[in-house]
Amino acid sequence: MSNKTQQSKNVIVVGGGLAGLSAAIRLAGDGHQVTVLEQNERAGGKLNIRSGKGFTFDTGPSILTMPWVLEQLFASCGRKLEDYMTIKRVEPQWRTFFEDGTVLDLSSDLPAMMEQIRALSPDDAGKFLDYLQYCYKMYELCTNSFYKESLSGIGDLRSLHSLRELLAMDPLRSMDQVTSRYLKDPHLRQLFNFMIMYIGSSPYGAPAILSQLTYVQLGLGIYYVEGGMRNIAEGMLRLLGELGVEVRTGSKVTEITSNGKQASGVVLESGEQLSAELIVCNLEAIPAHQTILETHPQAAKTSAKLEKFAPTVSGLVLLLGVNRRYDHLAHHNFFFSKNQEQEFHDLFTAGIPPEDPTVYVGISSKSDASQAPAGKENLFVLTHVPPLKQGESWESFRETYREKVLTKLERMGLEGLRESIEFEYQFIPDDLRRLYGSNGGSIYGVVTDRKMNGGFKIPSRSELLDNVYFVGGSTHPGGGVPMVTLSGQLTADLIQNDLQGKAMGTSSAG
Ligand SMILES: Cc1cc2nc3c(=O)[nH]c(=O)nc-3n(C[C@H](O)[C@H](O)[C@H](O)COP(=O)(O)OP(=O)(O)OC[C@H]3O[C@@H](n4cnc5c(N)ncnc54)[C@H](O)[C@@H]3O)c2cc1C
Repeated sequence: MSNKTQQSKNVIVVGGGLAGLSAAIRLAGDGHQVTVLEQNERAGGKLNIRSGKGFTFDTGPSILTMPWVLEQLFASCGRKLEDYMTIKRVEPQWRTFFEDGTVLDLSSDLPAMMEQIRALSPDDAGKFLDYLQYCYKMYELCTNSFYKESLSGIGDLRSLHSLRELLAMDPLRSMDQVTSRYLKDPHLRQLFNFMIMYIGSSPYGAPAILSQLTYVQLGLGIYYVEGGMRNIAEGMLRLLGELGVEVRTGSKVTEITSNGKQASGVVLESGEQLSAELIVCNLEAIPAHQTILETHPQAAKTSAKLEKFAPTVSGLVLLLGVNRRYDHLAHHNFFFSKNQEQEFHDLFTAGIPPEDPTVYVGISSKSDASQAPAGKENLFVLTHVPPLKQGESWESFRETYREKVLTKLERMGLEGLRESIEFEYQFIPDDLRRLYGSNGGSIYGVVTDRKMNGGFKIPSRSELLDNVYFVGGSTHPGGGVPMVTLSGQLTADLIQNDLQGKAMGTSSAG
């Protein structure tokens, strides 16, 4: 994919999240002079860590999917991913607990999966393979467009597919309508609908093509990075060092300066000014227009136009170091709500923390003994909640919602949880907004919704400035580790094409 150019540019990447780091790798590989400016003390964005009392926690992503995206990134610079990090498959993938006592293990071991489905719902066993085939078809369609080019909307998609392929994307159905069409058992419907939480949207609003998430999980597997997921960022940072890219931490950008349609550089909080010929912005596009681009005369108007790109869910994260082991749990565990429709209504329509939420408990020490002291476990507990509205704070929910989550977990099998907590740290939506600058504390960027935005994200090319590009969860192809890493790569391709187009006088940029 690497596309070397003679025109080396002085590039500044604002933000060292995975998308910014990925773009920096690709642009440095293409011969540009790249500097990454990260406001926090560590680069990696939401892929962060926290430790205490012998426990180590990844504070963001705990599940890696589609590792080919990382392999492709390292290969673009002639490197092998395995020389930078060790990834291993996790099986069973998810252990899922339902309120009626049903327990089901998601597995990419097909006979094991079929046996469980048959036991739960014989009628669905026959349809399950058809459902998987449908999900595979959706994934395959995406590899020729969504995962190949930086799309800015339906026009780009049309140019890459035949009418037959576009119709095969089942544009009139939602993800939930697909799940319900193939599967009748309510547990299975709830389980496969919940795959949408890889991108923090609603199965009732997300287009049918997102059913591919089931194939991504069952067909391609889910993975853990030895030593902690944080090692994905560490591997990228090592590669950036080898490529001669400077990553400056503790460097908050307060303004992108411009002259007409051209950005000229950035101003840091310290007052330092740096010039740039090209800027890649890893801060989400809407907050960027409200902060570092705010002085641009058209910023407010453009920001208002972007409102259809609403933020995804945020979350309450509890990091719990416990002085015991829960042997009946797996590495990844989901404790489902009683009523999925009500849960998603609360999250996306009413905009309130669900009365009965689904709770995720990740225990990386199940796969990696280095993450907790012997005989103890590191519980990463994530409950999705709505993003914050302008000026809102989650502080008033903090204690009551923690109680709700712990009560649910104790009721559903984590006996004596409260008494066994030795170490605790919390993140509420206010923290996610403050730490990463995300819109309302959004975890995955922009919501994927058929009616709101057709499932598209904010275009990578800035409308305001010809030499500014956005990367990360608010832009194509969206949120989650593989998608934002891909966003950096696809945007680097876009930049190369724009530069070559400009050199030949045929640019489609600006
Ligand atoms: C609790 C949680 C659980 C998750 N679980 C998973 C999971 O299991 N699997 C998965 O695939 N994904 C998961 N995700 C989502 C995933 O972490 C994100 O989609 C991805 O890491 C976002 O990367 P990004 O580069 O788009 O943004 P970010 O990681 O937010 O990076 C943006 C960077 O820009 C910096 N920045 C912002 N403003 C400025 C400024 N003015 N100057 C300088 N720097 C600035 C920020 O500090 C940050 O480092 C999870 C996220 C969270 C929070």
